[in-house]
Amino acid sequence: MNSFRTRLTLIMIAMIALSVSTAGLFMAKTFKENHIDALEDNMVREMQIISARMEWKAGELSSLYDHYTNEAKELKRYTGARVTFIRNDGVVLGDSDWDPSQMDNHLDRAEVKEALEIGTGRAIRESDTANQNMIYVAIPVEIIPDQTPNIIRLAMSLNEVDQSIRNLTMVLVLGLLALFLVAAIISYRIALSMTLPLEQITKVAKRIKNMDYRARVKVTKQDEIGELGNAINAMADSLQVQMTRIQQNENQLESVLDNMINGIVMIDKNGKIVLMNRRAEEVLGFSARELVGRHFAEAKQQYELSQMIQEGLKNKEHLREEITFYFPEERLLELNLVPIHPDGNEFSGVLLVLQDVSAIRRLERMRSEFVANVSHELKTPITAVKGFAETLLGGAVNDEETARSFLQIIYDESDRLNRLIGDILELSKIESRRVPLSFSPVEVDSFISKSVKLMESEASRKNIELSMNIEQGLYVEADEDRLRQIVMNLLSNGINYTPDGGRVSVKVEGVGDDHIRISISDSGIGIPKKDLPRIFERFYRVDKARSRSSGGTGLGLSIVKHLVELHKGTISVTSSLGVGSTFIIELPVLQ
Ligand code: ADP
Repeated sequence: MNSFRTRLTLIMIAMIALSVSTAGLFMAKTFKENHIDALEDNMVREMQIISARMEWKAGELSSLYDHYTNEAKELKRYTGARVTFIRNDGVVLGDSDWDPSQMDNHLDRAEVKEALEIGTGRAIRESDTANQNMIYVAIPVEIIPDQTPNIIRLAMSLNEVDQSIRNLTMVLVLGLLALFLVAAIISYRIALSMTLPLEQITKVAKRIKNMDYRARVKVTKQDEIGELGNAINAMADSLQVQMTRIQQNENQLESVLDNMINGIVMIDKNGKIVLMNRRAEEVLGFSARELVGRHFAEAKQQYELSQMIQEGLKNKEHLREEITFYFPEERLLELNLVPIHPDGNEFSGVLLVLQDVSAIRRLERMRSEFVANVSHELKTPITAVKGFAETLLGGAVNDEETARSFLQIIYDESDRLNRLIGDILELSKIESRRVPLSFSPVEVDSFISKSVKLMESEASRKNIELSMNIEQGLYVEADEDRLRQIVMNLLSNGINYTPDGGRVSVKVEGVGDDHIRISISDSGIGIPKKDLPRIFERFYRVDKARSRSSGGTGLGLSIVKHLVELHKGTISVTSSLGVGSTFIIELPVLQ
């Protein structure tokens, strides 16, 4: 653009320079000619005056020299020009500047010849005597009629003329320079006014190219360039609107991707990772910064995953697999690899969707294990009932004593079955939270006393001493029936797993301002260390035979744990074999 402006300026200046210098040259030439013409005319007039006043003498040549030389010198004072008198035969009679006797015949001088031929003679040439350009003008003076006339000649140095020409040229050159300068400035301004809007438009276009969509052209004139500016502005407007829309879409997409529960990885058809959301970073244990832009094989990924991606890229079809990952933590991931065909036909890569199914699978496993356990637990008493009933039917019914003991067993087993089913129903009710808790303030002291009283007959049957140590004035917000279930269950376990003559005690104390701690201890058989972490699991029993003989279902502690958790409390156990166990519950005072 700049060079365009420079070019335009230079062309305009060159044209102005050409015309001005041509005019200058022409002027100089005309001036010189006019000047010389005027000078010559002047000289002719002077000579005519001289000839009119002149007294021509005749006589001996040597006597004439002085007269004419003096005359010439006198006249030179008035005219300022060299004056020469020439006789009609060419002999110089007198000269204001030179000795006439020394001068040669002047008949062959151009001005003299011309004067004799046409009346006035002019010549410009270098003087023989003085080395300078001279202008010579001569006229004939008729002295005796019909005789060849004498000649008067004036000569002036052209130095003066040249000097004034030089002065004029100087003035001309200075003028031209000034003109040049003015012309250059004007041309530059004209070029500027033409190119400046274009430069501005170019600048704006470049900014738009560099994604600065706020750039606008300042349109001042409604000419063609102004219209171009308007068009660029309209383009920038629409680009800005579109870019904002794209930006918004991008942000939305990003927030959707970042907040998805599933991991998403996009891989282009060359195997380069293009996109990776936050969940994928968590699940795979790599940051998007590390992986995006790199080939999937460069990421040190599980072999099966790399295989799967490779296959997906090759076969371009939907693949589904479940793979266990051990890094960054153990997880079972369901992987869905979906081919991407953005415009319906051309394959552009694959989308990998990662879903952590560890929890789902764990739950499924637990459910099926539970069903198996329940079936097994139910089968045992039913088998017993069926077996004894068969034996009775087979004839044992006739032996009254045997029949009675068998019937007792059948009764006990069905009772156990009843309890078992009751516990299972209870547990499933609690787990599914079908029955909401109804919280109310419970006065701890009287509540525990009542619960202990309910267990007294069972304890005394085994000759077990039941004791309490309860801090006064404690209240807790709880579902009273559920809380009773918790305490009775633990007391009942304590009594069950303590040999005759042992002790079971309850202690309640406040912990800080907002919690109470209930500890139920016994002096019973204790629980082996290895079983401690598992006793809260459903159907888990340390000693199956013993538990069964004591009427346990193996569900009691699981129910307790669930109920404690529903109260936002915690339960823990400490135990040593043969010494006893302590179950500690901590509950928040307020729910
Ligand atoms: P159960 O109906 O068999 O008692 P629980 O869920 O109540 O089932 O208890 C699970 C197992 O924990 C019991 O089988 C028993 O082996 C052990 N256990 C529970 N309480 C005590 C305790 N106070 N002393 C010793 N062992 C206990």
